[in-house]
Amino acid sequence: MIIAIDGPAGAGKSTVSRLLAETLDCLYLDTGAMYRAVAWAIDESFGGDPDNARLASILPTLPLTFAVENAALKIAWRGRVLGDQLRAPAITTAASRLSQLPAVRNFLTGWQRQLAAGRGLVAEGRDMATVVFPNADLKVFLTADLATRAERRRDQWRSQGIDCNPDQIADQIAARDRADRERQVAPLQPAADACLLDTSRLSIEQVVNRLLELLDDKRKSSRHGVQKTEN
Ligand code: C5P
Repeated sequence: MIIAIDGPAGAGKSTVSRLLAETLDCLYLDTGAMYRAVAWAIDESFGGDPDNARLASILPTLPLTFAVENAALKIAWRGRVLGDQLRAPAITTAASRLSQLPAVRNFLTGWQRQLAAGRGLVAEGRDMATVVFPNADLKVFLTADLATRAERRRDQWRSQGIDCNPDQIADQIAARDRADRERQVAPLQPAADACLLDTSRLSIEQVVNRLLELLDDKRKSSRHGVQKTEN
């Protein structure tokens, strides 16, 4: 079973996807972390800004690995696990820029499909339903208004002791969304058959419950479909 969750920054995808995967006892695949890891790896090994052709040849040679451990994605560089360093603001900006390049997207799409092979998962990102898992069992596009998304990000940073200006956060999120929506390859958009869910006025629990309901509806309708064909 594959659940594909897409949406703009700060719509609540990560928290909700992690909880949903825990509830369903399956892998939580945070694909944003994979884009961040590529940005970190490029910075670590080259600095500078390699172009698409160069990236296509160097990405498979980097000592960057993705694996599944305890139903979670484990990202490592030369065997050392990468975590908090992927959340640095400079890495966020670099990930957004590098994610425009086909070489990076092809490289990570390959990894994402490989990690998903033979297991159930909740995959979260920008192109899960449209490109990476077009046959997902459930496709969801989470949104929230910009002010709500900026407030959530501010609360997240405050809880880590980082103070920041909500207007500045809103500007940064809006710029990142624009780049994700307007890029040529795998732009951020809902799949034609995705369920749209605005989380602006919903708690995390409400969103998770709604997703469980949607999944239940899907299961029921596919069971009916099977019965109909059997009749
Ligand atoms: O989700 P997160 O904010 O960690 O993602 C970082 C960046 O990676 C996004 O701004 C987006 O440009 C890129 N990304 C992407 N496709 C995905 C996941 C993330 O382009 N499936």
